[in-house]
Amino acid sequence: MDFNQLQSLVRPHILEMKPYASARSEYTGSKGIFLDANENPIGSATQTAYNRYPDPLQKALKEKVAQEKGVRPEQIFLGNGSDEAIDLLIRAFCEPGEDHLLLLPPTYGMYEVSANINKVAVQKVSLTSDFQLDVPAIQQALSSSTKLVFICSPNNPTGNLMEAADILTILDSHNEGLVIVDEAYIDFASTKGFVPFLDAYPHLVVMQTFSKAWGLAGLRLGMAFANPFVINVLNRIKPPYNLNQVTQELGMQALERAKAKDHMVGQLLGERERVIKALENIPGIHQVFPSDANFLLVKMENAQEVYNSLLEKLIILRNRSYVHLCEGSLRISIGTPEENEQMLRGLQRVLANA
Ligand code: PMP
Repeated sequence: MDFNQLQSLVRPHILEMKPYASARSEYTGSKGIFLDANENPIGSATQTAYNRYPDPLQKALKEKVAQEKGVRPEQIFLGNGSDEAIDLLIRAFCEPGEDHLLLLPPTYGMYEVSANINKVAVQKVSLTSDFQLDVPAIQQALSSSTKLVFICSPNNPTGNLMEAADILTILDSHNEGLVIVDEAYIDFASTKGFVPFLDAYPHLVVMQTFSKAWGLAGLRLGMAFANPFVINVLNRIKPPYNLNQVTQELGMQALERAKAKDHMVGQLLGERERVIKALENIPGIHQVFPSDANFLLVKMENAQEVYNSLLEKLIILRNRSYVHLCEGSLRISIGTPEENEQMLRGLQRVLANA
């Protein structure tokens, strides 16, 4: 896809409008007397001072993310969770009433909710019964109004990676819209994912997050990697200071401690294996689906009742028993060894009485 094609995907008014120019984007120097942003010059009501607006483009943090991920800073968008990137992509590329996005259920729920909020139509092609991409059906569904295709890999709630060759086929088949690969759980999978394909595919967007492996769900820090043109479009429409100062600082601190993340991932993967084996020995468990993520989709006897009974014991799982292709299944996040032990014991007891 060439630059003109890429440009033609954006809603025209987004390209034509003048973005908001914040004080910190009009003057980017660090020296001087700052009387341009109506801040409080004295300090903050907190012990640490946060009286100044943060860098709207998060340059220091992006430098570090670029190093960690092997991309260039201009290929990075940082958002208030990757949920922000999902919403901005829809708002930038999908004209309500004209365009639509393609979803591959069962998958992460926010794609559809964000589309609904923006009044953008959703088309769906089910995954196959083994939770893979139905490539011929997807190819048939793709049209010039399919502005976004969301592929979640590893997929939530099924936990599996999509076949890389199938994702590449979709990328090769569709040059009338963006193909978004949501890799929120990629750190738990044994693959590098699709970041290395960014230079080959200008219409590829890869999303990742600090909410899972990095253990920073409370911070709200999501990443989207794409062609610099696409990143620039997102920057035009994002709220000026979408990442607060604390998030930027702690994000940098986390990146300096990537080993701590790797250590936690190792622990969680060990627990994942242990929990799989234990679940498989519990009578009433029908299937533990293979997982490349930090959760397991588990099919069992009387899933709804089991869910309710565990809830009474304050063991809270995610009920996916009514979701297409996940019938009779609960989604279980991998916890600490103690939490997993309690969950397994509770599950065993409840299923014995079911
Ligand atoms: N994508 C997927 C597949 C997810 O499961 C989630 C969170 N559950 C998100 C994106 C959103 O992550 P964030 O916390 O970065 O907004």
